[in-house]
Amino acid sequence: MNFNLTEEQKMLQDNARNFAINEMLPTIQEFEEQRKVNHDLTKKMGELGMLGIHIPEQYGGSGYDYTAAAIVWEQLSYVSWSQTLSALGHGVLAATILNMGASEEQKQKYLPPLCRGESIIAVGAVEPNTGSDAGALETKAELVGDEWVINGTKNFITSGGIADTVLVLCQTDNSLGWKGIALIAVDTNTPGFSSHPVKMVGDLAGDMCNLAFLDCRVPRENLINKIGRGLHTTLRGIDTARLFISAGAIGMTQCCLDASIKYAKERSQFGKPIGSFQMIQDTIASLAAQLMAVRWQVYYAADLKSKNLPHGKELSAAKILASDLAVKASEQAIRVHGAYGCTDDYPVARHYRDSILTTILGGTREMHILTIGRELLNLDAMS
Ligand SMILES: Cc1cc2nc3c(=O)[nH]c(=O)nc-3n(C[C@H](O)[C@H](O)[C@H](O)COP(=O)(O)OP(=O)(O)OC[C@H]3O[C@@H](n4cnc5c(N)ncnc54)[C@H](O)[C@@H]3O)c2cc1C
Repeated sequence: MNFNLTEEQKMLQDNARNFAINEMLPTIQEFEEQRKVNHDLTKKMGELGMLGIHIPEQYGGSGYDYTAAAIVWEQLSYVSWSQTLSALGHGVLAATILNMGASEEQKQKYLPPLCRGESIIAVGAVEPNTGSDAGALETKAELVGDEWVINGTKNFITSGGIADTVLVLCQTDNSLGWKGIALIAVDTNTPGFSSHPVKMVGDLAGDMCNLAFLDCRVPRENLINKIGRGLHTTLRGIDTARLFISAGAIGMTQCCLDASIKYAKERSQFGKPIGSFQMIQDTIASLAAQLMAVRWQVYYAADLKSKNLPHGKELSAAKILASDLAVKASEQAIRVHGAYGCTDDYPVARHYRDSILTTILGGTREMHILTIGRELLNLDAMS
């Protein structure tokens, strides 16, 4: 066991933190107010090798393992999880799916521009009637001649309005169940495609959209992997995304803790800094204690995944613990800041709005509880 970061991991950590503080922090409020993604920042992340950090170098990535990548996503989320999610939607979810499932030709076509931040690729799995039960999807793809004809709706798609391409999970034959599910790349300039913005409680610097596909015709060769492998390939991408969502939740918690410590020393009431009151110290010290433990659970899951070892229940535990802690930390940090914490003058309100989202995407809390239960009991509550 080695509980120390390597020199390389420390360097990545410093670089990502400096980028977040120097490049993200000065513009985040402006972009949140406009409800827009700072696309220039995404491009800079591409130039610095952060977008495809875990993608092999031969496809334009930086070739680091999952632990190093988790450390980077943690630091970026320290400032804004929303801006980081925009990068994560394509730099992690789409990139992993393509890296795991696409043909060599498709990888060469899609991955290098994605890693440079020059093209945005979104992933459309969830639908109006299909969330956690992803295999029950209703979007149809029919092969007509040499083209797929796609009809359906996808909901809550990260970067759905700014994407150049969407990887769409479709059913090709209802009678086949998951064996009929295919993943098909649809360029967003295809006639019949439209995107419709969704306003959420958080993710204000994001681009969340519902997508409609009306007789969208795309070439047959846009199929990623084989029919019957669509769900499996997408789930591998989601597995990676959930690790980095957990790491992001740790970054938000650290920010809430740091902000609370600073404020508790600066703010005085009853003639003393509020940090000298035992109840404020309890809040801060208890958060710090939980963060120390949960961070290691996230790194442990990342290490198992990097070593290609089974990591299902460990990663589900990390996702539950880290996202719950971010929600709790942001709420408690606001209370330490009093009314000032409810304004955008301090970083904690931003994390309060965003942290709840980490409990839903990448698999809800309940789905991860069932994943752990399935492994421990060898009984599947979901089938
Ligand atoms: C910020 C954000 C970004 C997202 N980005 C994307 C994206 O890029 N692409 C994409 O395809 N999707 C995306 N999603 C959608 C996300 O994947 C879904 O929200 C998630 O899978 C849950 O589906 P649902 O919201 O339909 O909830 P549902 O599945 O309807 O669940 C509702 C509630 O019921 C519970 N529940 C469901 N089944 C069970 C069960 N068997 N036992 C116990 N409880 C159960 C759930 O845990 C939850 O509490 C995003 C969501 C968010 C919030």
